[in-house]
Amino acid sequence: MDMQTMFDLTGKVALVTGGNGGIGRGIALGMAGAGASVAIWGRNQEKNDKVLSELEAIGSPVMAMQVDVTDRKGLSPAFAQVESKLGDVGILVNNAGIVIGSGGILNETPENWDRVIETQLNAVFLLSKVAAASMAKNRQGKIINIGSMYSYFGASDVPSYSAAKGAIIQLTRSMSIELASHNIQVNAIAPGWIETAMTAGGQANPAFNSEIVSRTPAGRWGKAEELAGTAVYLASSATDFVTGVTIRVDGGYAIR
Ligand code: NDP
Repeated sequence: MDMQTMFDLTGKVALVTGGNGGIGRGIALGMAGAGASVAIWGRNQEKNDKVLSELEAIGSPVMAMQVDVTDRKGLSPAFAQVESKLGDVGILVNNAGIVIGSGGILNETPENWDRVIETQLNAVFLLSKVAAASMAKNRQGKIINIGSMYSYFGASDVPSYSAAKGAIIQLTRSMSIELASHNIQVNAIAPGWIETAMTAGGQANPAFNSEIVSRTPAGRWGKAEELAGTAVYLASSATDFVTGVTIRVDGGYAIR
């Protein structure tokens, strides 16, 4: 197979949750740029529409749906809508996420804990279950989960977030073993510190900002677009024998 064909996603359908936000948008645009049909999900229709028009400009069939990934009963019907409009989903990117800073478990409320775990972990399990059933029928699929530096490190301010992101890596490994026999590869990306709405507060805080920049060997924050190449790689046939891995895209943050 020549290299261009190997990374070409033409004819594939990708679903990106949280595709209207920073990293999800970057990944959705990357998938469309590589030829895939792309569906994005997000709760905010205005943000969905904005990214939808950027995706449309690329040229492949695309759609944006107002879906809350914590609406458990809504996941399967919403997934079916994507398949009826774009075709069978071959690429799922579990990217939707929130963080709620509590300052630590002494202050963390069970309600906020549940909201984060429901969005960042339970939805990944539930949607992957729906997608994997469809991919297994076609004996082909790629599931890409989004971890974090807090998949590796403790986070005293956001324990629910780090608990979910740590679990994502183990869920990725577990699903990759189970689904390998169906020719579904399951991998994860662990972004470092990326300039998005989620990290806007940190970027604006001089002390925090300089801590991140000085600890990151690349000496800067990453851009959401910088996740796209790794996501396309994990969605492509270049990774048909790569499963259960987590790729850090972090400017070296985690090796220090
Ligand atoms: P953003 O806040 O820019 O984007 C978050 C996205 O998730 C938005 O599209 C949002 O859309 C969507 N979302 C949130 N909750 C739900 C929900 N219940 N249902 C559907 N969609 C939802 O943040 P990032 O782009 O930074 O984050 C994307 C992922 O990357 C997250 O999983 C995050 O944890 C992870 N990450 C981010 C890092 C960073 O430095 N930025 C570092 C490591 C990991 P809407 O509001 O319309 O629902």
